[in-house]
Amino acid sequence: MTESCLFCRLYRDGDHVAATEGFVAIRDINPQAPVHLLVLPERHIDSFREIGELPPDETKRMLEFVADVAAREGLTDYRVAVNVGPSAGQTVFHLHWHIKGGWS
Ligand code: AMP
Ligand code: ZN
Repeated sequence: MTESCLFCRLYRDGDHVAATEGFVAIRDINPQAPVHLLVLPERHIDSFREIGELPPDETKRMLEFVADVAAREGLTDYRVAVNVGPSAGQTVFHLHWHIKGGWS
C-alpha cells in the first residue's frame, strides 16, 4: 500500500463492484464501453511487466476473478486488456485489468 497510489487508495476506500480476498473490481470513472470495469490487486505492482512478482496462486486467482466479475455483470462477450507503459496508454501505475463489454 502506498498512499501516493490512486489504486492503492481505491482498493482501501473505493466503491467496489465486487471483491475477493486480495482483489477488487471498480467501475471505470471514464467508461470506454457500456460496461467498463477495472480489476486490481491489493498488492501494489507497477504494471503487468512485473507480473512475476505475484505468487503463481495469486495470479491464477486474479485471472479467475476477472472472469467471475465479467460473468456477475452479465457479460458473455467482452474484452480484457492491460495497458503496459505510457506509450501503450497506461496512466495509473498499479496493475489493473480492463473489462469492457455490454455492446448489443
Ligand atoms: P490505464 O490508462 O490503462 O492506466 O487505466 C486507468 C484507468 O483508470 C482509466 O481508464 C481511467 O479512466 C481510470 N480511472 C482513473 N481514475 C479513476 C477513479 N478515481 N476511479 C475509477 N477509475 C479511474
Ligand atoms: Zn498501488
